[in-house]
Amino acid sequence: MTIPWAEVIGDPIAQSKSPIVHGFWLERLGQSGDYGRAHVRPEDLADYIAARRQAEGWRGCNVTLPHKIAIMPLLDDLTDAAREVGAVNTVVRQADGSLLGHNSDAPGFAEALPMAHADTDRPAALIGAGGAARAALVGLASRGYRKVILYNRDEARAQELARSAAGARLDIAVRPIAELGPAPGSVAPWLLANATSLGMTGQPPVPVDLSGWPDDLLVYDMVYAPLETPLLAAARARGMETIDGLSMLIGQAAIAFLLFFGLTAPRVHDRELRALLTT
Ligand code: NDP
Repeated sequence: MTIPWAEVIGDPIAQSKSPIVHGFWLERLGQSGDYGRAHVRPEDLADYIAARRQAEGWRGCNVTLPHKIAIMPLLDDLTDAAREVGAVNTVVRQADGSLLGHNSDAPGFAEALPMAHADTDRPAALIGAGGAARAALVGLASRGYRKVILYNRDEARAQELARSAAGARLDIAVRPIAELGPAPGSVAPWLLANATSLGMTGQPPVPVDLSGWPDDLLVYDMVYAPLETPLLAAARARGMETIDGLSMLIGQAAIAFLLFFGLTAPRVHDRELRALLTT
């Protein structure tokens, strides 16, 4: 019997934690299956897809930088979420052999968020205008949120994101990152989410002083290396609730795991998985 297998592709790829996550779940469930990694350069992407269409047992792949957009025209169809985000992070080979592009980053981001109260007029403050921010906007809309203040260094890029399909279901105000903070007299945000690479190892921290923000602010950092970013450390010191980057990483992987292997990820072991990912 052919063992089902999947993999993550990117350039570079050594840093990906996906093989650890999927391998852990397969092992915990006692299921046969394999999840590897493949280094695919941009010039080899079309050949990679053509070869995998025929590969025995191949269920699909996760897609990381720099292929999330370039892979889209090579596939047979896209889910609505992939269209809305404008990027694919999971490719699944269907029963008929066709390749369907999904985006599990948006639901992976949203998984840890509460649903919006119907009467909420508090905005979410989101920093960034790249791929992670795009997924976060779709995730916020899926949870029923409507108002977003979008901060980015390159303001024109943020304006473009606000006008895109990802921003279409939201009421978005764009601000320069230098103005990060609750504006006097305005309704205070309920969420501050970082979707930039600020705070990553070797990068400067998010330039924010949390002292003027509300005590009940939820602070979400998508960066997971390090897991305790300066932003999260400052929020915890202020007694604020926080969500770290592994929540999204594990959440999006669980969706892909179900699509590849037809199995529900055993999330009761999240604590053990987190320990494995941070050692
Ligand atoms: P992109 O390259 O698409 O976007 C990068 C973003 O960071 C842009 O908004 C950019 O601003 C901003 N930025 C970078 N350097 C600076 C700086 N020095 N000062 C101010 N802003 C800066 O990256 P992604 O959106 O794909 O990823 C962003 C982060 O999210 C990464 O840390 C990534 O690891 C993380 N991520 C985490 C996931 C998870 O599962 N936890 C999933 C996906 C991403 P500008 O537009 O002005 O250049």
